[in-house]
Amino acid sequence: MNSTERDRSSSDRTAWSGNKRTEPVQEKFEETGSWNEGHWFAVSKTLYQGETDFQSVQIVRSLDYGVLVVLDGHTQSAEFDEYIYHEALVHPGLIACRKPKSVLVIGGGEGATLREVLRHPGIERVVMVDIDAKFVDLCRKMLPQWHRGAFDDPRVELVFGDGNAFIEKTSETFDVVVLDVVDAFDEGPATLLYSRAFYGAAKSRLHPDGMLVIQAMELAVGQTRDHGRVLNELKPLFRHVRSYSCFIPSFWCEWGYIVASDSGNPGALSVDEVNGVLAERKLAGVLRFYDGETHQRMFALPLDVRAELARNE
Ligand code: SAM
Repeated sequence: MNSTERDRSSSDRTAWSGNKRTEPVQEKFEETGSWNEGHWFAVSKTLYQGETDFQSVQIVRSLDYGVLVVLDGHTQSAEFDEYIYHEALVHPGLIACRKPKSVLVIGGGEGATLREVLRHPGIERVVMVDIDAKFVDLCRKMLPQWHRGAFDDPRVELVFGDGNAFIEKTSETFDVVVLDVVDAFDEGPATLLYSRAFYGAAKSRLHPDGMLVIQAMELAVGQTRDHGRVLNELKPLFRHVRSYSCFIPSFWCEWGYIVASDSGNPGALSVDEVNGVLAERKLAGVLRFYDGETHQRMFALPLDVRAELARNE
C-alpha cells in the first residue's frame, strides 16, 4: 500500500466511524433532567462553572462539538453547529418580512441570534432583552465565535430584564419579534413567556405585517407535547402559525421553531422566492445552513408529526 492509499484508508475509517471512540472517556458532561433517556458528551475541560441570580451556567469544551453552553443542565448551543440553530431561528421570519428594519430579540444571551439578525442589510434597530446580565457578560467575554462583535454594533440596544416585563412596559413596535429563551420547564426563568397572554402582548408590539418567531423545543414523533402547547397557544392569535424544524447534531434531535403572522405565510415561500430575497439582501453564499432548499425541508414536517400535533390540538 503506498502512502496515498494509506492516507485514504485511514481517513475513510475516520469517516465511517462517526463519533465512535476507541479510548475510554475521561470526563463526561451529562445533561440533567427527568427523562427516560440520557445525553452525554465527552469533554476535555470545564471552562466555566457558576451560578447567576437566574440559572446555573456551565461552559465546557467537548471533544466532538467544541465549546458547549449549558444553562440549568440543558445544552443551549455548541460551537460546532450553533449556526444551524441560529440561522434556522432567524432567517425564515426575516425573509418572509418584506423590509425588516426593527427587530426585538428576547433572550439569545450568546449573541448569535443578534449576529444573524444584523446580517440583513435593511436592519436599523435591534433591541435585545435578556434577563441575565451576568450570563450575557460571560458570553461576551468567552464566546466571541458566537456573537462576533454583534453586541457592539451601533444598531443594537441591550436591555437587561425579564422579557415579559419589557413587553408589558414598552410602547415600541417591531417588524419581527424573536423569542430565543430557555425551554419551558417548571420554575425556569422563562415559564411566563410560554403563555397565550404573553404571545398576545408580543403580538401587540408587532407591526401589522410583522412576524413572531419562537424557538419551540423538540419536534419529532413522540416528542411533540411541549412544541404542541406553544402551537395551540398561538393558533387563536394569528392567521398563519407554522411549525418548522431541523436536526441539530449537538442536541441529538430534531428541533422545532414556530413563525406566526397575520400577513404572509412563510411556509408557502418557494425555493426561488427564498433564494431571490437572499440574493437581494446579499446573503446568498454567506449563510452556511439556510437557503431556499433548506427552507422547504424545514417546513415539510413528516406525516406522523403532523398527525400527532393535530391529535393534540
Ligand atoms: N438555544 C437555547 C435553547 O436551546 O433553549 C435558547 C437560547 S439562549 C442561551 C436563552 C436565553 O434566555 C438566556 O440568555 C437566558 O438568560 C434568557 N432568558 C431566560 N428567561 C428569560 C426571560 N424571562 N426574559 C428574558 N430572557 C430570558
